[in-house]
Amino acid sequence: MPDVFTKAKRSEVMSRIRGRGNKDTELALARLLRRHRIKGWRRHQAVFGKPDFVFKQARLAVFVDGCFWHGCPKHATKPKHNRAFWRRKLAANQQRDQIVNGTLRKAGWRVIRIWEHDFVKKNEARLRRRIQRALGCDAVKASPVLSAPLRRRQGFRASSRNSCGTGPRPARRL
Ligand SMILES: [Zn+2]
Repeated sequence: MPDVFTKAKRSEVMSRIRGRGNKDTELALARLLRRHRIKGWRRHQAVFGKPDFVFKQARLAVFVDGCFWHGCPKHATKPKHNRAFWRRKLAANQQRDQIVNGTLRKAGWRVIRIWEHDFVKKNEARLRRRIQRALGCDAVKASPVLSAPLRRRQGFRASSRNSCGTGPRPARRL
């Protein structure tokens, strides 16, 4: 299988692509979360599958998936060199994503995967809602019955680490 790069050079080139793409989108998500005062998240936590963002209390794992590496149906390009290698490699990535999703969900986590291409201004409100929904924000806000004092009594604390005011979900161990 001919390759224009040596093996070492190839992995160096690829690691650069991976690093940069992922970092940009991760930072875009971090900015979005800060802008909307969504709290309670950490990056690079030791959680199965290495989620990009982890809301530990809410047990929500968020992955930011690069269009190339995770096989986005809209933008995944197929490298011309080393076709077989890349087909296998990218298929393995997608398979791993599925395994990670399944494993986390079985352990009681919610999993959100966001495509790199979703980080455009017009999608921001939709992204925010998606994350807040997964954090359980809607359930609290949408309930007219639960007045603020009642929410407090029921354990929904405004000062909770999640900005949406949901209380901690009962934690289950992975
Ligand atoms: Zn895409």
